[in-house]
Amino acid sequence: MTQAPPFSQLPLSAATLENLSRLGYETMTPIQAASLPIALAGHDLIAQAKTGSGKTAAFALALLARLDAKRFDVQALVLCPTRELADQVTQEIRRLARAEDNVKTLTLCGGATMRPQIASLEHGAHIVVGTPGRILDHLERETLSLGALNTLVLDEADRMLDMGFFDDIAAVARRCPKQRQTLLFSATYPEGIAKLSQQFLREPREVKLAEQHAAAKIRQRFYEVRDDERLHAVGLLLNHFRPASTIAFCNTKQQCRDLVDVLQAQGVQALALHGDLEQRDRDQVLVQFANRSCPVLVATDVAARGLDIAQLEAVINVDITPDPEVHTHRIGRTGRGDDEGWAFSLASMDEMGRVGTIEKVQGRESEWHPLSELTPSGGGPLTAAMRTLQVLGGRKDKIRPGDVLGALTGEAGFTAAQVGKIQVGEFSTYVAVDRAIAKQALQRLNQGKLKGRKVKVRFLDEAAAE
Ligand code: ADP
Ligand code: MG
Repeated sequence: MTQAPPFSQLPLSAATLENLSRLGYETMTPIQAASLPIALAGHDLIAQAKTGSGKTAAFALALLARLDAKRFDVQALVLCPTRELADQVTQEIRRLARAEDNVKTLTLCGGATMRPQIASLEHGAHIVVGTPGRILDHLERETLSLGALNTLVLDEADRMLDMGFFDDIAAVARRCPKQRQTLLFSATYPEGIAKLSQQFLREPREVKLAEQHAAAKIRQRFYEVRDDERLHAVGLLLNHFRPASTIAFCNTKQQCRDLVDVLQAQGVQALALHGDLEQRDRDQVLVQFANRSCPVLVATDVAARGLDIAQLEAVINVDITPDPEVHTHRIGRTGRGDDEGWAFSLASMDEMGRVGTIEKVQGRESEWHPLSELTPSGGGPLTAAMRTLQVLGGRKDKIRPGDVLGALTGEAGFTAAQVGKIQVGEFSTYVAVDRAIAKQALQRLNQGKLKGRKVKVRFLDEAAAE
């Protein structure tokens, strides 16, 4: 095997290199190694690699390298399909920008009120990350000016096209200076990408990393089902293998809803993620899945694409997708890093043709197992290790993660090991605690104080059900 290349072979500042190693980024991921030299040299670029391969840093390091922090103009714009992806990108850029002095990164997405965004823009920003519609809105109102822009990034371009953003992207790109670098990142390569690239990229270099899952790390199993036993079979798989964290992919929103109903009726904790959810509900579903308060996420491909969700133990293909590339993409979400992962697929007779296409693309035969092999192991239905408390107070109230951890481990008397992920949002803070102590933790936080103030705390799963 070839050695993974270190960042130090790139023309990056010493401060940036030091920051990278502080972040634990020791070597480049393959897409970074392939695209950073091109992007840092100033070329336009089309880069394709699967979700989780480190594409954000691949463009963020390039745009940061060109940035002049002393110049208070927007010098880079990153277009993303959704607010949560924009938030993830902003967070990653901020982490990578820590080496530099005072680089200001601003997120501008739809769904939020305009006024605070306009106020933030008046204060100035170097980098703007946002969704195409909202960015266009600001450009039309002239609250955002791109006259000094050096770098335009189209992140998750395939998904933006899926969501019908072609015209908005085109309108934004037309308002960018002609002299600029354009970087296009995508997990898949549908036709629209070529059209975007012809219109808005100049002599782009292409970097395409074929899907190469460490096949050995993903254990794939197929089960033949009748349509009327399909949803029930998901419960059988979960209760047999008991993975701590699973995404179950469905082809339709309706299938997502039906599956969640069936699982919940069986006592399995599952939440749906699909395009019909309100933004706030999507956020809360993702919070609970990421912090281990919900072991099963039931999602459509579009809803799950691009999300950085680590440590999936299993992927279940509840339906077989007609597109073999999508199948590869789904199962590639498990078996990351050094972990092994399961990929289970449920196929009816009608779907055997699709399975055949998948076998051709993967170059191997499927391993079939009978449903009758699945027996519930003891311990009852699959439940989560943690439960999420929602503190009604966030960044606006100057709450930081340490305050919440301090309150739980201090007066309240819990150990740090009983406290999981803490996420501070604008108006709410989410903290995962060991399910066994959740009720006590809720009580004590409600009785005690945070930042010297009384706060209201509730269970997120109960709040969401209201
Ligand atoms: P993509 O956009 O390709 O889906 P991301 O940019 O979201 O992937 O990166 C996935 C995860 O990998 C993130 O948590 C990120 O912090 C981490 N990561 C990125 N580059 C490196 C690296 N060189 N070394 C270690 N971790 C990395
Ligand atoms: Mg990404």
